[in-house]
Amino acid sequence: MEKQRCIICRKTLNNGIIINGRILCKACENRLINAKVNTDFYNYYRDCIKKTVVDLLLREKRLSSHM
Ligand SMILES: [Zn+2]
Repeated sequence: MEKQRCIICRKTLNNGIIINGRILCKACENRLINAKVNTDFYNYYRDCIKKTVVDLLLREKRLSSHM
């Protein structure tokens, strides 16, 4: 079986979250969720995984925090 790698930190993973067919480790997911928009950090990660994926994460976070 082929090992999957986190698209941001390139660590090999046994599991993680899959967004739009891309896999992300828990650590990177948390960092991304907590990143503020328009910081270097945010922009860097956005470039890594495409804005749509970031928006998806942020939207999910927003929805769950409203519940
Ligand atoms: Zn990672």
